[in-house]
Amino acid sequence: MRIGIIGGGPGGAVAAATLARSGHEVHIFENEVFPRFHIGESLLPCNMTVYEAIGLPSEQFTAHHYQPKHAAHFELSGSGRCCRFPFSDGLPGDPPSIFQVERSKFDHMLLKHAVAQGALLHCPSKVTSVDLPSDDKSLPVLHIEGAAAGAPGQMQVDFVIDASGRETLLARQLGLVDRDGDLMRAAVYGHVAELPLAPGAERGDISISKSAAGWAWAIPLEQRKWSVGLVLKREVVVKGGTAHDIFANNIPFFPEFKARLAGQVPEPARTTPNISYRVRQRLGRRWALIGDAGGFADPIFSSGVLLATRSGWKLGKALSAGGALANLEEWKIGTDHDLATFISFIKLWYDGHFIENLFFADVRDPGIYQGIISLLAGNTTSLENKFLAMLNRRMLAQKNKTLIMN
Ligand SMILES: Cc1cc2nc3c(=O)[nH]c(=O)nc-3n(C[C@H](O)[C@H](O)[C@H](O)COP(=O)(O)OP(=O)(O)OC[C@H]3O[C@@H](n4cnc5c(N)ncnc54)[C@H](O)[C@@H]3O)c2cc1C
Repeated sequence: MRIGIIGGGPGGAVAAATLARSGHEVHIFENEVFPRFHIGESLLPCNMTVYEAIGLPSEQFTAHHYQPKHAAHFELSGSGRCCRFPFSDGLPGDPPSIFQVERSKFDHMLLKHAVAQGALLHCPSKVTSVDLPSDDKSLPVLHIEGAAAGAPGQMQVDFVIDASGRETLLARQLGLVDRDGDLMRAAVYGHVAELPLAPGAERGDISISKSAAGWAWAIPLEQRKWSVGLVLKREVVVKGGTAHDIFANNIPFFPEFKARLAGQVPEPARTTPNISYRVRQRLGRRWALIGDAGGFADPIFSSGVLLATRSGWKLGKALSAGGALANLEEWKIGTDHDLATFISFIKLWYDGHFIENLFFADVRDPGIYQGIISLLAGNTTSLENKFLAMLNRRMLAQKNKTLIMN
């Protein structure tokens, strides 16, 4: 089969590597020349299963000197309360660690790996639109612009995977993007020099600080480079002036984090003004959407790269198993479940004091504690997970409430 992939970020690169390893003719169209900046630097342990499956074992990460990550640390700003969730306390079988990655390097590594597996990269090449088949006999045609040597103006493919990230190329073309469930958040972020550890945190942890204004992250990338960011109400960011001013003016809402920053403001600072959006359909006739191209809620639990790569990997496997007309329903159910589970977890984070009672309690139910860690590691399917079962009951109750109200 000939497969066209729009976007060479983590989702596109993993789908490409999976398909190329199965002998398909894979074309990746990437608009930007790598290495390029991208936000989203904290991976989840379950990511490693995907990388190993495409031939990238953890030794490769170690060889590239990525910072090992063993836990997620949370702090309730202004209260002195903290909690640390080491992944080794998760459910049996969950991977105990992963890495923090500077995305410019990491995305480049994944993309080069896809090419090494046999995928054909066209870069810089922008897909401007796709003619989608209207019946079972015709095939999708990609329309392409770009300076890549020998870049075709258009290409017919057996299947098209949209991995274009927040660009959401196909979903926008089809009018499938909406802001239903929008959490009305925006982010401001960048890199600073080394920070002291939060109380109770250990080297390599992601540290999250929660306050009434929103939440803040600190991710160690290298000895002297940390990623820091604030997620705030959208209007605060949109009306807050320059990215530098937004960061500097809102850091006082996180007093302990402010003290650790000791006056540092990321330079350059960047913003993402509309974090969340929904895409109503992720699978159609000879097309599928993976990663951010299929919707995004919020980065609080660092789930974005995992969901993009797991979806790309599973789609690659499903297509390889059954061809372009494969029944991809199972892939769709799994991808929808992953996203819905994290959305439900994210809603809990923003749901008053619920999460504070769960995370920062002095005494916790051991099963719930273990279940939270398992989900923080990216395991969305364990039947042993008491916390996940609770989350699933909440999802069902909310769905039933919506049905009754409609
Ligand atoms: C503030 C913030 C913080 C985040 N923090 C984390 C985190 O800590 N951990 C985590 O896992 N996730 C995080 N995320 C989410 C993460 O950034 C994304 O989920 C992840 O990058 C999705 O990968 P992807 O491959 O779907 O898309 P992307 O990584 O965005 O890749 C898409 C690629 O497609 C290319 N492209 C776009 N349009 C076209 C076109 N028309 N033609 C050709 N190429 C095109 C782009 O150049 C890009 O390289 C965060 C997100 C935000 C907003």
